[in-house]
Formats: sequence, structure tokens, C-alpha cells
Amino acid sequence: MTNTHDRAVGAVLGSAAGDALGAGYEFKPAVPEPTPIRMAGGGSFGWAPGEWTDDTSMAVPILRTVARGGDPASEAALDGLVAAWSSWAVNAPDVGIQTRNVLTGLGPREPVPARRGACGAAGRPSSWGEAHTASHARASARQEHDYKGQSAGNGSLMRTAPLVLGYVTGAADEERELAAAARAISDLTHYESDAGDACVLWCVAIRHAVLTGELDVRRGLDLIDPSSRDVWAERLTTAEQSEPVDFTDSNGWVVSALQAAYAAVRRSDSLEDALVRAVRTGNDTDTVAAIAGGLAGAVYGASALPAAWRELLHGWPGLRADDLVALSEQALQARRA
Ligand SMILES: [Mg+2]
Repeated sequence: MTNTHDRAVGAVLGSAAGDALGAGYEFKPAVPEPTPIRMAGGGSFGWAPGEWTDDTSMAVPILRTVARGGDPASEAALDGLVAAWSSWAVNAPDVGIQTRNVLTGLGPREPVPARRGACGAAGRPSSWGEAHTASHARASARQEHDYKGQSAGNGSLMRTAPLVLGYVTGAADEERELAAAARAISDLTHYESDAGDACVLWCVAIRHAVLTGELDVRRGLDLIDPSSRDVWAERLTTAEQSEPVDFTDSNGWVVSALQAAYAAVRRSDSLEDALVRAVRTGNDTDTVAAIAGGLAGAVYGASALPAAWRELLHGWPGLRADDLVALSEQALQARRA
């Protein structure tokens, strides 16, 4: 396994492992040292040890899209993603508020549950399973944004890491294509530009880490709108001067989630350390750790994942770590073909 290959697979496995590690700590306060962080499941949704949550369940269709080959940002590929997410959401216990509202908005509007995770079968619209398209999703995301006045939750950043595997050949223009695809997929559920910007910055940083082993989150600043660059540069500086727990209260917001994850990765000396630091943040632990794991996995490689965690890792739709590795390898080959 080359280093580049190991780091590319690491982005996928690291994100899934962070998700599963944080699952039992979601919505709880920060967990300071020396309390150990364990991949023990539990939490609000009663996860099994090593079971991943919505973060990875929404990332798997992106990984499959890349593995199938072709352009992941084509309208047909985006249609496929929306259809896959819609069918996953029918039985998933933990669809994020914004994502659920957008996906339910694809059909006739029905009352939407107020609290994340509060929606069971009773809250399910009658239209689930019907044809859902990317264009319907974008319109629904816009409607959700207009209704709430904001739509920059962390739900598009949490699932974005596998996309990078389609863009690690080192070809010219690949970084720009990755940025465009990251934003297109974010826009399916999150209208606000901060969400798309965060996905661009993170994906470009993951790609750079896969290709070089280096951590550089500023690299993507040139690929977001010039009017937002200074704001984001300042946010990254703040993260560099902070601990992950400085963002605990607000880490459902994509900006704070990225800052917490970046602070965790930047202060880490191993993949395990990065994921544990992210989970100690508290609140949206699985998502902050899934985000951190995408980048930390690309820095340290899949081989750095503790074997005990890799053994336990599993989740929707009946996959285990080896399945994620096989899909990652297909994804890497598909774009080289
Ligand atoms: Mg989750």
C-alpha cells in the first residue's frame, strides 16, 4: 500500500471511526482528561459499540458515487445521491433537523419535528420513496433557508470526505474540480454559502494531505468567493489559537464544527489522538470527530487507525470497515480509469 493510497483510504476510515467514537457522547458536555474516550456506543440513539451514525450513512452514498466512476457533480450523480439519502432517511433514527426538513420538503409539506432525532415513523411524509431529484433538493434547501433565515448547519461538512477520493491523481485542474463538486453536493441540502465554503476548504485540505501528508487548511481559500476569504482566514486563525472545547456550545454551526475539528487535528500527534480530542469537545461529538477524522485520516493514513476500533466499525447499510476500504479502492481506481 503506497502512502498516498493509505492516506486516501484513511480519509474515509478516519471519518467513520470519528463518527462511531463520538456516537455515545453526542449532546453531552465536554469530557476533559483523564476520563478515557471509548468506542462503546450508547448515547441518545442507543448505538452499538463501533456503529456509525448519520454522518457516515450520508457519506456512504457519496463514496459509492465516486466508486461508480464518472463525474460526481453531474446532475445524474447528484440525483442518485438525493435518492439514496431519501431512502436512507426513511428508517434512520438520527437524521439532522435541516437535512430532514430538506428531504421531507421534497414531497408534500407536513409538520416537521422540532427536535433533532425526535421524528419516528409518525413524522414521516407519505411521499418517502418517490422520485427525488437534485433540483427538488436544491429548491427545498432554499425554501428551508428562507423559512429559518439560516442554513449553515454542519450536516454537509460531516459527510464530505469520501468525495476527495475522486480527485487525488494529481492532475491539473483537479483541485478546482473538487472544490466545485464539494460545493454542488453541499448545496443539495445546505443553501447558505458558509456550508459550501467549509466543504471546499476541508476537501481541498484533505486532498492536499492525501497527496503530501501535510496539513494545510488555508490552501482552499483561493477557491471560495473573494468576498469570504478574509472572514474564513480569520476563522482559521482563531481555530489555530484555540482548543476544540472553545467551540463546544456552537459546534452544530458549520463554522464552529470546522474550527473545533481543525483545532483537534492541529494539536494531535496521531489519528487516535485527533479523534479523541474531537470527541472531548462535547455536544455534536460524532460530527466534529467525523469531520476531524476525514482530515486526520488523510494526514496519518488508514494504517494508523487502532485495530480495535477498525474491528468494531460498522453501520448502515450493513457495512464494516473492510467494505469501506473496498469501496475506497474502487473509488480510487474509478477516477484513474
Ligand atoms: Mg451523527
